[in-house]
Amino acid sequence: MDAADVRDDLSEVLYTSDQIAERIAEVAAQIDEDYAGREVLLVGVLNGAVMVVADLQRAMKNHVQMDWMAVSSYGSGTQSSGVVRILKDLSSDLDGRHVIVVEDIIDTGLTLSYLMSNLASRNPASLEIMTMFRKPEASRMEVDVKYVGYDIPNKFVVGFGLDYDGRYRNLRDLAILSPHVYS
Ligand code: 5GP
Ligand code: MG
Ligand code: MG
Repeated sequence: MDAADVRDDLSEVLYTSDQIAERIAEVAAQIDEDYAGREVLLVGVLNGAVMVVADLQRAMKNHVQMDWMAVSSYGSGTQSSGVVRILKDLSSDLDGRHVIVVEDIIDTGLTLSYLMSNLASRNPASLEIMTMFRKPEASRMEVDVKYVGYDIPNKFVVGFGLDYDGRYRNLRDLAILSPHVYS
């Protein structure tokens, strides 16, 4: 399957890689300002947040560190299961650290609510959330999201780290997956 074939499975590009980079630069500048004099630990949620963490930290001017967690939520379908399991835990101790959890997308927020209470119990100096994309449903979440890239419509999207069944993460744009792929 070549790159042209991958793009045949998309119905609409919502954000181009340039628009994503532009927004990440703005968020990075905001984080630099908000955390001036305090070193941030970005906690990326695998695998979707890989691109966000890579681009966000390179757009920052402050010192910054990263660590990773893997949790299960979606499986290979397009609906949140509500089942959250830690598949890979952090290597770092969060005690006294300024932590920003980095997500690719928040839909129901089920995954994140679980993660936040888990991380809060590890005694960080501060704990905030950055998500690249956010769906409307997330507004009903109890946890506060400090940094949002873009609010998007309630469609199943892929690209910029987001997958369908392990594929499409390598697309640089964020696009709506054509329903013919999964129906
Ligand atoms: P939530 O628990 O907020 O409902 O879902 C969290 C996870 O579900 C995200 O981190 C992401 O992995 C996956 N997810 C939610 N919406 C989408 C979507 O539109 N496209 C893709 N590819 N994954 C999604
Ligand atoms: Mg995620
Ligand atoms: Mg996924």
